[in-house]
Amino acid sequence: MASPLQLYVHIPFCVHKCHYCDFNSHERETPDWSVYQLALITELKYWANSPEFANRKLNTIFIGGGTPSLAPPALIEAVINTARDCCGLDADAEITMEANPGTADAAHFQAYRQAGVNRLSIGVQSLDAAELRWLERIHGADEAMAAYRIARDAGFANINLDLMYGLPEQSLGNWLATLTTAISLAPEHLSCYQLTVEPHTKLAATHARKPYPLPDDDTALSMFWATREQLLETGYEAYEISNFSRPGLKCRHNDGYWLYHDYIGIGAGASGKWDHSGNQADGGITRYSNIRTPERYIASALTQGKSINAQESLTRNEAAAEACWLGLRRSHGINRQAFLQRFGFDGWASFQPQLETWQRAGKLIVDDDRLQLSASGIALADAISASVL
Ligand code: SF4
Repeated sequence: MASPLQLYVHIPFCVHKCHYCDFNSHERETPDWSVYQLALITELKYWANSPEFANRKLNTIFIGGGTPSLAPPALIEAVINTARDCCGLDADAEITMEANPGTADAAHFQAYRQAGVNRLSIGVQSLDAAELRWLERIHGADEAMAAYRIARDAGFANINLDLMYGLPEQSLGNWLATLTTAISLAPEHLSCYQLTVEPHTKLAATHARKPYPLPDDDTALSMFWATREQLLETGYEAYEISNFSRPGLKCRHNDGYWLYHDYIGIGAGASGKWDHSGNQADGGITRYSNIRTPERYIASALTQGKSINAQESLTRNEAAAEACWLGLRRSHGINRQAFLQRFGFDGWASFQPQLETWQRAGKLIVDDDRLQLSASGIALADAISASVL
């Protein structure tokens, strides 16, 4: 049976390109929103009618960026309505949109809510003025707090705050001050990621010339554990390595990625994926990624319906390894029965050679139902999950 279907919509425009950012985001003073909307709708209709995704209802939509909160509400509404008309949308579908506090606008937030967005993810990153300046964010701490209040006033009952730790000269105390203030706002969800210096960013170039005083490994690890401790103590569930929610309010869209579900991706640089459960029925998957430059993306979508830059297929074994790599990030790990049904072989039997050392070291728990990281294995998630690839 095909997995639930998700839709990712990419809005690639930002007011300013933050120096650490490796997302597909582009500074454009005045994007032509009507043309971008037309390209998104054209592409969505193309995929909705394609053999890969036809007659499959969506259960989540995630509008990410870039800065989606720059987009006119009419664009957001048009995309959601097209998704509902062309694909079908579950009555309880989760519809998330990302917002930058520097672009928070009460009337827009209300209009996004009315358009059907029912979950807002606010890119706060830090509540420390100096850290926000270093990150090159376009907002201060007060604006981040104000954006949260504007979102609540607009009727958002499900809000995520994105936070970042491991910043230059950041002490454990600095980080916990941001985290504590964020928790005091009582968001339903928090994503807490360590800063990484991604290659090909402005930050990577400057860091290579003159390294920033980033926290050492021990300090970064103490931040990781303190984050979990504080969030678990205050009633959040750690359902993934970096993601915490009130019970029942995990991000279903992102959890779908870790569960290896299918998704349509539309917009510049977006990607999509489908299982070969139809004609090919070989257990593998195919995925595509779109042209990244907005103007080139638009030109291709408007002339061809789609805007693919690259496409690749994975065999069943390759797809199973990838599903295992992703699934181990979830606190519930991998359901062995579901894995067996999806791939036709047992996950533990096939990955035992790579994972046995971790199991013997007490970092991985294997029982009849699940493969999952142990409490001490969580901090090694990247290394453990990557060992299956
Ligand atoms: S606002 Fe977000 S997407 Fe835009 S440049 Fe900064 S980090 Fe990247």
